[in-house]
Amino acid sequence: MLLGILKETAPGETRVALLPESLKSLLAQGITIAVESGAGMSAGASDSAYSEAGAAIAASRATLLAEADVLPMVNAPNPADQAHLKPGAVVIGFLKPLDAPQALAAAIARSATLFSMELVPRISRAQSMDALSSMATVAGYKAVILAADRLPRLFPMLMTAAGTIPPARVFVIGAGVAGLQAIATARRLGAVVEAYDVRAAAGEQVRSLGAKFLDVDLGGISAEGGGGYAAELSEEALDRGRDLITKTAAHSDVIITTAQVPGRPAPRLIRKAAIEAMRPGSVLVDLAAPAGGNCELTQPGIEQILNGVTLLAPLNLPAEVPIHASQLYARNILNFLALILKKGELTIDLADEVLAGACMAHNGAPVNPRVAKLLQTDNAPAGSLAC
Ligand code: NAD
Repeated sequence: MLLGILKETAPGETRVALLPESLKSLLAQGITIAVESGAGMSAGASDSAYSEAGAAIAASRATLLAEADVLPMVNAPNPADQAHLKPGAVVIGFLKPLDAPQALAAAIARSATLFSMELVPRISRAQSMDALSSMATVAGYKAVILAADRLPRLFPMLMTAAGTIPPARVFVIGAGVAGLQAIATARRLGAVVEAYDVRAAAGEQVRSLGAKFLDVDLGGISAEGGGGYAAELSEEALDRGRDLITKTAAHSDVIITTAQVPGRPAPRLIRKAAIEAMRPGSVLVDLAAPAGGNCELTQPGIEQILNGVTLLAPLNLPAEVPIHASQLYARNILNFLALILKKGELTIDLADEVLAGACMAHNGAPVNPRVAKLLQTDNAPAGSLAC
């Protein structure tokens, strides 16, 4: 049984799927581990650290792809890599199952078993494998740090002999995993924080972090979807949120926006008028940019200055904190591997709801029904949907 650790090839990617510290329990099962040279370098892990931990350094990427039985990755393998996969290999990672399942057609044709970390069910038993939450936590933190760096003001209130500086005012939209971490980080830096979410249940968590929760009367519409997620709202209900956001934007120095609805493009909540209402020098970080963005002026991946307001739309903030993002991700991967590697042998039991939920394809055919449906549709959406 050979487990391979590849160097990620996506532009700007700095994370690695497993770190040297992750290998002990796998090696103890008698699994052989090989690493592509340089795989962990940008996450602080040198080839020699992997060697000292008991892994071999692979002769080349192509041999590793051709020989590995299990490949934990951060991002999906590209088509050229897929063509080299060992038939029947297991690939685990953020595979974008609902954005671009067709991009994995070559791997499916080689009968690879594909497990998508985005599809791991959010049930108690699988919490330790919830890589979406791990990465959202890192992104929420980093978004505030970015905003604080760009803001031409201080975050904390300062009382000095030269006078008093008021605290920065931060507005967080979407109080899920990333939003709550953004609130906690902004509070630690001394900001006054307000937050808005359509799910009323988020209010208590927001208040427990010392922030003010802004309620919107949705006229009796339920905003709760399944599993703690939000439901997709009507335009009328969205408008009530948009009005509150425009009003709150006028006195906010920083907006961090994180609102998402699983499997749908991000809701457009921030109108051009809200940006125009912000003071010059203010900063907006749109964490929903990978799903299109919460602001109607967002251009994913592009930084803009509009009427003096800085609008950031980062596509991969966890990659800007590679050591801790990789540590958390590696722990999620290790916990997932424990479901399929028993005493060094590969055992894939698709009767297990976690494995069945996360499995995109097995034995040359799609498993997850949503993925199967998208693969059947020639015009399946590309690059616009979040999971
Ligand atoms: P997410 O990334 O899908 O969405 C982020 C936030 O945006 C959510 O809080 C959502 O309510 C909010 N949102 C959506 N539409 C909005 C709108 N129109 N206006 C304002 N806000 C809007 O969600 P997430 O952060 O991944 O998770 C959301 C919730 O799921 C968590 O708070 C938690 O309750 C639950 N959760 C459960 C588990 C588990 O059981 N293992 C794990 C993670 C999260």
